[in-house]
Amino acid sequence: MTAVHDDIKIDQIIRSKRKTISLEVKRDGSLIVRAPIITPRGQIEELVESKERWIRKKQELLKQRSLEVPAKKFFPGEQFLYLGQPYTLEVVNEQADSLVLKDKFYLTANSQNNAQIIFTNWYRKHAALVIKELVVNRAQENGFAYARIGITSARTRWGSCGPKGSLNFTWRLIMAPREVIDYVVVHELVHLQVRNHSKAFWGEVSNLMPEYLDHRAWLRENGHQLTLD
Ligand SMILES: [Zn+2]
Repeated sequence: MTAVHDDIKIDQIIRSKRKTISLEVKRDGSLIVRAPIITPRGQIEELVESKERWIRKKQELLKQRSLEVPAKKFFPGEQFLYLGQPYTLEVVNEQADSLVLKDKFYLTANSQNNAQIIFTNWYRKHAALVIKELVVNRAQENGFAYARIGITSARTRWGSCGPKGSLNFTWRLIMAPREVIDYVVVHELVHLQVRNHSKAFWGEVSNLMPEYLDHRAWLRENGHQLTLD
């Protein structure tokens, strides 16, 4: 019997002043290794080999996910998420705006070629409105003082809290249910006071939102669907 063995391909090694080695499997399945400057290549390869099962499992999961969420074509009948609900796309000849949401998403026929940009702009605009409202409500209720709200295009970094109190959220969140967006809002607002993910941090999140674990789990399981690609 012969053992067939493919070595795992390391796509990139990023060296820095860090003290430990970390592995990251990217959305496209590529493997990024972060390592201290002095760690010999052989030691990195050994570690990668010892984590082979974990890496292959992760790559397999990502492959399945990309099959599960097919690339958007912006064809009639396709479904698009808004606040956690899927809406069917319909193409129409004339209406006031290029994209309108009623019982369905209605897109004008002459916008179909730019549909991805039009959808992105629509999502971005509505994300800004909904997120701002949630932040203002939570901040007023609980006495948080933030500097400003920004909207990003990040794919997996749902929100962030800058050192000077500016809050950022990705427009992709607008595809998630409102409670999930609210969880990200609460999470970032609590970071204004606790800058890490300590027990104290999660304790405060839990005070403000006792069911936050459900929303965090929702993002872990469904976050990959919040995309227009
Ligand atoms: Zn955080």
